[in-house]
Amino acid sequence: MDSQKTLSPHILIFPLPLQGPVNCMLKLAELLCLADFHVTFLNTDHVQHRLLRYTDVQSRFTRYPKFRFQAIGDGLSEDHPRSGDLFTEMVDGMEAVTYPNFTEMVTSGNLSSKSEQPVTCIIADGLFSFAGGVAQQIGIPLIYFETISPCGLWIHLCVPKLIEAGELPFKGDDLDARITCVPGMEGFLRRRDLSSFCRSCDPTDPLIKLILKENQELQKAQGVIINTFEELEGPLLSHMRSLCPNLYAIGPLHTHHRARLGTSHATFSNSLWEEDKSCLAWLDAQPLKSVIFVSIGSLAVMTKDQLLEFWHGLVNSGKLFLWVRQHGSIAGDITESQIPVELLEGTRKRGCIVGWAPQEEVLANPAIGGFLTHSGWNSTLENIVAGVPMACWPYFVDQQVNSRFVGEVWKLGLDMKDTCDRVIVEKMIKELMEERKDEFMGRANQMSKLARKSVSEGGSSFCNLDRLMEDIRVMSLQASKS
Ligand code: UDP
Repeated sequence: MDSQKTLSPHILIFPLPLQGPVNCMLKLAELLCLADFHVTFLNTDHVQHRLLRYTDVQSRFTRYPKFRFQAIGDGLSEDHPRSGDLFTEMVDGMEAVTYPNFTEMVTSGNLSSKSEQPVTCIIADGLFSFAGGVAQQIGIPLIYFETISPCGLWIHLCVPKLIEAGELPFKGDDLDARITCVPGMEGFLRRRDLSSFCRSCDPTDPLIKLILKENQELQKAQGVIINTFEELEGPLLSHMRSLCPNLYAIGPLHTHHRARLGTSHATFSNSLWEEDKSCLAWLDAQPLKSVIFVSIGSLAVMTKDQLLEFWHGLVNSGKLFLWVRQHGSIAGDITESQIPVELLEGTRKRGCIVGWAPQEEVLANPAIGGFLTHSGWNSTLENIVAGVPMACWPYFVDQQVNSRFVGEVWKLGLDMKDTCDRVIVEKMIKELMEERKDEFMGRANQMSKLARKSVSEGGSSFCNLDRLMEDIRVMSLQASKS
């Protein structure tokens, strides 16, 4: 790096262009701005357009003169749905267009040593393995941010071991067979709890190849940021340090963000869809802990049949429900004439359906008594902080193991993985909100307290964030001197 330029650390943050990663990396960006770092936040054009359209993020960040957004193409047409079932298309688009443009930007373009304010450190999503080579080429540190769960990440890191031990690809189709060679999970891990791509019997599956590449690069990076707290996943983090020694567990990031900004409410929206706040008024009118919140996040897709099973289960449970049905989360169209009249009637009496909700605010509402979730890692953490019991219907990737941890390890709820049947949905909701309500609520409250403590001054995540910021300063300085 050119030592004649400024020594001021300048961090380039590059999230995967999806709701969860963009949301939590923006929170990290703001924490770094508070500590007076220069920060460039790189979004794809598609994400940037949606963020500017649906949030006030631009004006919120004007208070940080050292912050700026930059955008880059993602190689997909504007009308591409960018849903979870088309994830490999998103990866292909980025490989073809985003990676070369990123490389140019950082090595010779407006973020390079030729610029006024060269980048001195990259924080990139863990899936962006190509960033390792770029950082090495220009001699600056790279820290990966893994936005999936650490329990999911640990399984990914163990994929080579699983292949070597013959546990992957699966032999036979018994999804309840035990997996024995993931350290720390020997007692409870089954095939069905591994990331969904492990079910593919093809060892050349593009997602498996992506994960193997990611594993190698993670171990070469200067550090790995994870969104968790020691008290939740401490034993696993010890195992993980054997491969990635420099871990920064700084979560739950949304709570950490609020704690350091000194605000108790989630007033910062980073939503890529328009939030329908009318559901907050609806919730305010409902009794304490009476509503089940239903959401499968931004990427999961359910079939029409699954939709109807969920719907019957919810209505038959007799509980009040708030259901997020993001456009694109249901495969195909369903017309009103295809919906049984008892569902329309049950929804009119006890339900509220919105396209996108201010989720953190929803979970914090006293009327919420349960969460029927796809077990996305951000949703899981937001829910742990809110202290709400969960019924889990995982869709893909780490969600399969997250739901196992919720049910078997943390015992914060129930795992209905691989089933989608109206009778089971009804039974799970009743178990969660009636029969075992006190048991789940008790544990959820305890875990929520630990989460909050970890981000308060002197807590584990608080100290880890301070260490991260100090390390970035030192590494940036070393890079600009070399
Ligand atoms: N989310 C939201 N409103 C909704 C549904 C989800 O703001 O109606 C947010 C949620 O708070 C979380 C993110 O979208 O921060 C979803 O991330 P997660 O990792 O849970 O799941 P993904 O969408 O990546 O599958």
